Amino acid sequence: MKFFIETFGCQMNEHDSEKMAHLLRVNGHTQTDQIKESDIIIVNTCSVRQKAEQKFFSLMGRLKKIKDARGVIIGVTGCIAQQEKEVLKDRLPYIDFILGTSTIHKIKDAIEYGEKGSFFCDVTENGCSPSLFIKPWCIENRIKAYVTIMKGCNNFCSYCIVPYVRGREISRPSKDIIEEVKSLAQEGVKEITLLGQNVNSYNKGTDDISFPALLRALNKIDGIERIRFVTSHPKDLSDELIDCFGELNKLCEHIHLPFQSGSDKILKLMNRGYTISEYVEKVERLKKVCSKIAITADCIVGFPGEEEEDFKETLNLITHIEFDGIFSFAYSKRKYTKAALFLEEVSRDVALERLKYLQSVQKQITLKKNKAMEGRILEVLVEGKSKGSKDDLTGRTRHNRIVNFKGGDDMIGRLVDVKIIKGYANSLRGEWI
Ligand code: SF4
Repeated sequence: MKFFIETFGCQMNEHDSEKMAHLLRVNGHTQTDQIKESDIIIVNTCSVRQKAEQKFFSLMGRLKKIKDARGVIIGVTGCIAQQEKEVLKDRLPYIDFILGTSTIHKIKDAIEYGEKGSFFCDVTENGCSPSLFIKPWCIENRIKAYVTIMKGCNNFCSYCIVPYVRGREISRPSKDIIEEVKSLAQEGVKEITLLGQNVNSYNKGTDDISFPALLRALNKIDGIERIRFVTSHPKDLSDELIDCFGELNKLCEHIHLPFQSGSDKILKLMNRGYTISEYVEKVERLKKVCSKIAITADCIVGFPGEEEEDFKETLNLITHIEFDGIFSFAYSKRKYTKAALFLEEVSRDVALERLKYLQSVQKQITLKKNKAMEGRILEVLVEGKSKGSKDDLTGRTRHNRIVNFKGGDDMIGRLVDVKIIKGYANSLRGEWI
C-alpha cells in the first residue's frame, strides 16, 4: 500500500516520521508525496504551539472528506496523540489509529488493525521504548541524517508541554549512537544532526560518556564531514562543550541557543534557570573559542507579565548579540503547563505587535550579516536542486546558511567551495569556484 506522512513541528518529529516511514517500507509499503494516491495517511502532530494544533484540526477536516470518498486508513501520532487521545476519539471518530510519542514502533500493528477495520490506540509512556532505537537506514541518496541521542526533558519551563508529552530525559547508549553514525557514513551520509530536547544533559547521572566526549568520538568517524546538534539549554552549556567548537574540525560553527526572553523577570517566570548576564557570558565565551560561530535562538514575546520594559530588554539583547537568526513566536497558552495559570496575560494584539517589531529588527540584523558574507569563499554541502529555480543547486554552509548557485547534478552530495556574491534576508547567492 502507499502511505503519505504529514509532519508538524520540530526536527524530532521529522525524524520520528522518517522512522515510521522506514518501518513501513521494510514491511513492503511505499511512500508517496501525493495525498491523492495514498492508501494510508499518517499525521504526525505537534502541540508545542497553538498554531500547529489549529492547522492539525483543519487538516483533519479535509482528511475526513478523503476518508468518506475512498476509505483510506488514517492515523494520528506525536504530541497531540499522546496528550489528547480521548479528545481525538471524540472529535475525529473516523481515525483508525492513535500512537503516542513512545509507541511509533507499533506502526505496523496499527496499520494491520486499520486494514481489518479495527481501531488501534497505544500511547503508553515508556522512556526507554524501542521507538528511541529505530534506525531509519538505507534511505536512498541521503546526504544528511538525524540521529536521536536522547529524548524527553526534565526542565519544566513553565510554558512548555514537552515534558508532559515526551516524558523525562532518557539517553541512548553512546555505543549504539556511534554504531549508527558509522553505518550512516558507510551509506554515504556526510552530515549528521544529533537530536535531543536538551543535548547538554546527555547521559547526566549515568556511567556512560558525556556529550562533549560523544562529539569527540563521532568526530573521528571517517566519511562524516559535518556534525551539528539541537537543542542546547543555556543553563547546561558547559565550558567543555564550548571548547569543542575550538577543537573539533567536523563540528559546524553554529549553535542554536534559545534565550526565550531578554528580561530576567520573565526568565524567572519561565523557569529557565539562567539570567541574561549568564547567557551573554556564555555567548562571549563561544565567540572567543570560535570567532566565526553563528548563533541562532528561539524567543517568545507576550509571555504573561511581560511589560514594555521587559520587551525592550529582549530587543536590547538581540541588538547586542546580533543573532544570525531567531525563531520568534507570540506566546500561546498550553494546557497542563504552569504558565497557563498565570493571570497577567498580555493581550494578543500587543503580543503580535511586539512580535512584528522584533522580527523587523532581526530581519535587518540577519540581512546585515548575510551581506557581510559577500566576497567570502565558503564550503557548501550541496543538498540538491533549488526549489526556486531548476537551474540552481542549493546547499548549506557550515554556519547553516542556505546558498543557491549554478552547478551540475554531479555536485549533489559533495562539499564544494562557493564564492558568495549576494546576501539576501533568508539566503545567499553564490558562484562555484
Ligand atoms: S528545556 Fe524547557 S523549552 Fe526545552 S523542551 Fe525542556 S521544558 Fe521545553
